[in-house]
Amino acid sequence: MIGILGASKYEGILDSLNERTVVTTRYGEVSVALGEVSGQAAAYVRRFGWEDNIASNVANHAAHALAFKALGVTRAITLNGFGAVNPNLQVGDLVVYHDYIGMCEREPTTIFAGEPLWPRANMIDPFCPEIRQALVSAAKGGHRPVHSQAVNICVQGPHNETPAEIEAFRRWGADIVCTTIYPEVVYYRELEICFAGLCWISDMAGVEDSKDWKMITLEELQTIVSGAVGSIAEHSACRCNRTWDGIENTLPDWYLKMR
Ligand SMILES: [Zn+2]
Repeated sequence: MIGILGASKYEGILDSLNERTVVTTRYGEVSVALGEVSGQAAAYVRRFGWEDNIASNVANHAAHALAFKALGVTRAITLNGFGAVNPNLQVGDLVVYHDYIGMCEREPTTIFAGEPLWPRANMIDPFCPEIRQALVSAAKGGHRPVHSQAVNICVQGPHNETPAEIEAFRRWGADIVCTTIYPEVVYYRELEICFAGLCWISDMAGVEDSKDWKMITLEELQTIVSGAVGSIAEHSACRCNRTWDGIENTLPDWYLKMR
């Protein structure tokens, strides 16, 4: 099953949208829409709530990830509009980022919070290379510039960044800035779910009046996502589902039962 994390009204990406189901996790309940994308079973989570009442900096990413795991999601895609700090990017560009910098204080920092022993996930190559490649290829079929590499810095928010912060982020090598990816990306690695994201540049960080409020249309996004999902191999050759191979004895029982 494919999991998709998206914003308001993009659940129309699913070819056939069924009733929502509620999944109870150790981090809370999640309402998930079920359907299909390119003939594959798919689950869609509206990251900011079905009433659009949850701010991006307080969204329950841990519950979303666990709900996907409980439903049998093996590969997940996140769709977001993010700001750019790299001046070579432009509003409306599409970016499939390959790395991140966690620059926020957000709990839990592990899906295993509360356990006496916390296994340590390897975050080298943090985003699934197979999904990234599929997203890049599908995005290049459209009319927008596509960037296949970028460093995404995740800040606390919800306020915007200062000029000094934006300059610092550039010097650190960041290209785009968000408030959602970290520690979310860690949860997916810990849950051994392939995870990668496609973002469209919604604004240039620190530049007033650069916000593109129209963002991307459902139709354009649907074409890219269905193309990417349709081209992902049935059996993954990536390492995303082998985070704990050889060290299963460090995992808590509740995870071993759902693994
Ligand atoms: Zn993978």
